[in-house]
Amino acid sequence: MNIIEQFINHPDMSLMEYELLVEQAGNPEAVKRLQEEALRIRRQYYGDKVYIRGLIEFTNYCKNNCYYCGIRRDNKSLQRYRLTKEQIMECCQNGYDLGFRTFVFQGGEDPWFTEDRMVSLVRSVHEAWPDCAITLSVGELPKETYRALKKAGADRYLLRHETADKSHYESLHPEGMSFSNRMQCLQNLRALGYQVGAGFMVGSPGQNKFHLAKELYFLSHFKPDMVGIGPFIPHHKTRYKEEPAGAVSMTLFLLSVIRILLPKVLLPATTALGTIDPYGREKGLLAGANVIMPNLSPEKYRKNYALYDNKICMGEEAAKCIRCLEKRVASVGAQIVVDRGDVCK
Ligand code: SAH
Repeated sequence: MNIIEQFINHPDMSLMEYELLVEQAGNPEAVKRLQEEALRIRRQYYGDKVYIRGLIEFTNYCKNNCYYCGIRRDNKSLQRYRLTKEQIMECCQNGYDLGFRTFVFQGGEDPWFTEDRMVSLVRSVHEAWPDCAITLSVGELPKETYRALKKAGADRYLLRHETADKSHYESLHPEGMSFSNRMQCLQNLRALGYQVGAGFMVGSPGQNKFHLAKELYFLSHFKPDMVGIGPFIPHHKTRYKEEPAGAVSMTLFLLSVIRILLPKVLLPATTALGTIDPYGREKGLLAGANVIMPNLSPEKYRKNYALYDNKICMGEEAAKCIRCLEKRVASVGAQIVVDRGDVCK
């Protein structure tokens, strides 16, 4: 039996087998077979529903210095901003009126947002919209802080591990950031009862097929509820400004593989994918994704949350964005729904 059929029948494989699988990314027949299977599985669990998450990028201050990231501490040319609680609540109200039932609060690791301030924010949002899910994506925090945020009403947490290989991790991050701490954070979040999202960039500098095999191996063991993958895209103020972006084809291949590996996973067609290909998100949905995360941040701040260059949807008001997305999603035979979109049982 070839490796593709073997994977479809028994998705839990060895590292070496995952490496053979990854080698098939350039084989059109293999890609097609995986895509069909991924779509079948997505439909089996989620029908043609696409869940939307209202992304609120509430601060671009960051104490970290990840080599690939445009909002890294040492990018002195970036205009920094921080939304007030009132502004954040306004974004939520706007999103709620547009049909969003999940809010994602994402930011740099900004020490101004202490545990107390974050708890107060989460509690207020939870009280104001008790029918909505709250997702946090604010990096590595002590377990006790994660616990307090959960208690205040947070449901989910997105913390991409970035790479499952320690030395690759160390090549992408400065000394002082630790692979084991990031992995420990994921374990802590899981133990506290969060729905947990991990993930990585496709085509990040130095990534090879062995690393990708390790990603799949890690996902098959950790089994996150959500997996965020998107292509790496260079940012002009980082050391990787001349590096090529990750490939659309590899991203789509991996989306299909991840859908098969974790059938019920919540899998976004990411903004990064929509940035390197004008139909990237549509293609992502057809590869097995079932989530889209439009931006609810106030337009005037969006350009400053530049993780990478040429990010899409910078000027659009949220209402326009959602209408555009509804058409895009319909074009691939799916529908955006008004729903919290929890992981299916
Ligand atoms: N501070 C939070 C949020 C980070 S930004 C945290 O640490 O989790 C969200 C994600 O954007 C990152 O996890 C990373 O995978 C992605 N990202 C950062 N720079 C990028 C780039 N140049 N290209 C593509 N994705 C990038």
